[in-house]
Amino acid sequence: MNAPLPIIACAALLALAQLDAYAQDPVSRIRAHVVALAADTEGRMTGSAGERRAADYIGAQLRRIGAQALPGQGDYRVPFQFTAGARDGGSSIALGGRAFAGRTDVQALSLSDSGTIAGPVVFAGYGIVLPDGQGAGYDSYASLDVKDKIVLVLRYAPEAADPQTKHLLARYSGLRYKALAARTRGAKALLVVSGPNSPNAGEPIPMSLDTALSGSGIVAASISARVAEALLAPSGRALSDMQRALDSGKHVAGFDLRDTSVTLSASVVREQQTGNNILAYLPATQPSPGLAQPWIVVGAHYDHLGHGQAGNSLAGKDEAGRVHHGADDNASGSAAVLAIAEALAREPRRRNIAFAFWSGEELGLLGSAAFVANPAFPMDRVAAYLNFDMVGRMRDNKLVVQATATSAAWPGILERANVAAGFDLVLQDDPHQPTDSASFNQAGVATLNFFTGAHADYHRPTDTADKINYEDLDRVAAFATAIVKRIAARDEPMTFVKVEPRAGDRASRAGVRIFTGTIPDYTTESKGLLLGGVVGGGPADRAGLQKGDVIVEIGGQTIANIYDYTYALDAMKADQPIKVVYLRSGERRETMLTPAARK
Ligand SMILES: [Zn+2]
Ligand SMILES: [Zn+2]
Repeated sequence: MNAPLPIIACAALLALAQLDAYAQDPVSRIRAHVVALAADTEGRMTGSAGERRAADYIGAQLRRIGAQALPGQGDYRVPFQFTAGARDGGSSIALGGRAFAGRTDVQALSLSDSGTIAGPVVFAGYGIVLPDGQGAGYDSYASLDVKDKIVLVLRYAPEAADPQTKHLLARYSGLRYKALAARTRGAKALLVVSGPNSPNAGEPIPMSLDTALSGSGIVAASISARVAEALLAPSGRALSDMQRALDSGKHVAGFDLRDTSVTLSASVVREQQTGNNILAYLPATQPSPGLAQPWIVVGAHYDHLGHGQAGNSLAGKDEAGRVHHGADDNASGSAAVLAIAEALAREPRRRNIAFAFWSGEELGLLGSAAFVANPAFPMDRVAAYLNFDMVGRMRDNKLVVQATATSAAWPGILERANVAAGFDLVLQDDPHQPTDSASFNQAGVATLNFFTGAHADYHRPTDTADKINYEDLDRVAAFATAIVKRIAARDEPMTFVKVEPRAGDRASRAGVRIFTGTIPDYTTESKGLLLGGVVGGGPADRAGLQKGDVIVEIGGQTIANIYDYTYALDAMKADQPIKVVYLRSGERRETMLTPAARK
């Protein structure tokens, strides 16, 4: 047991040791930043105490460096609100003298409004309406009057006879779309049940984070098979018969349920929380009033996954729930931005250089999106945005620079800066990356994103500070500093080039609900998908895939690149084995991989 005094003495010694590190060389300093940020015992989840501790550390460093709060802000800390999630606050349903409550029988949909609705129930098949001009007609509501009633529908889409119609119906089978269809026809509430022939048969739908941002203007809940059967019994109908008829392609008319005045009470609790961006700047020392773009922004997200509670953790079974340190993702990027600020503080500057430490990146680029929506200076006054996300695990001198197509000036700037740095640069055009540079690209700013590649510790508790390559992390910061200096010295503006997203690219990224446990190696150009590793115990590992394998075919579909792979992910189903053809040391092999559902 320690008495209070020695503890204080220890803290003072630690602070002295840290000060000592700052007086030392840049590599020791950048190491001290990563170690301090990644040491957190809670893992920097947006809105948590760990986030606030990391923010305090970054703020103290900015103060030491001499950076100022942004114009119009009294503080480095700039808060933003976000919906942290939704949970069922105790929904229930009552019919014919019976009442059901509890998650196994009734759960509000995360898109539901809260409220209590009483009224008659209408069965409306799968609840799907194809808009005109789709080449096929399908309307579950044809000849049905659902005004002021409660609509009961099946989850998913019918297994129609021809694949093209099936594919079309599936596109309009999302819960939001079904809720919209019911609401626009005047229904007061929507009930959804998974039919006996569907996946998750008879189970209510768990609430998920991604659809929880707001209510969709209707009371909506999912119910168990037990509740659905109780609803249908007075009409003498069975759910299985009706689903079989609907799936056979026959048009089955909807109908009013007999003797069923139902009272549905849906309760959705949306939790609002506050995240904190940390923003500062070094004002121009030689301002040029004629410059059209007097700002440059350099940024990185400093938030991470906490204990992995938001569902985007890749922790194996044995490590689930442990703190995710995020040393590479993204203490490394945050440390790089601090190092760039430190270097630029001593240089003459024609432009203002802003330094951004975003929170909420892991929950969907929330912090950078909030800034771009409500910026401290107009976005068309920003010459460029440089982003750093996972820059601490360089291998073989390889540095990936993404979004290079956002300005015609980038290739030349990068080439000249790299004369001194000497990296093997991998330039990638595409600005539609799943990191904060995407927010600035959307706002019409020329961006770059720096990245040293994926690895087996990505989004796992094992992403720790001892695995960081500090020498090369410091070289990345020095390289970026040289780039910022070049942009800061320019007379002419950086002209932004808009790059259209590849068809389906965004949708597939947002819609992926499948976990394969593959870790693509983005740093190497290869024909097929080169694996940088596999998540231990994950589906790819169990299928016998390993680092260095090149996937060339999935489910009969050729895989030429990462895009093909994302499309292939779309077509995969959880728990359904799919054939994977891959090359190992040039030899063609095949295996069966069984994807898991993402939590
Ligand atoms: Zn990241
Ligand atoms: Zn991440």
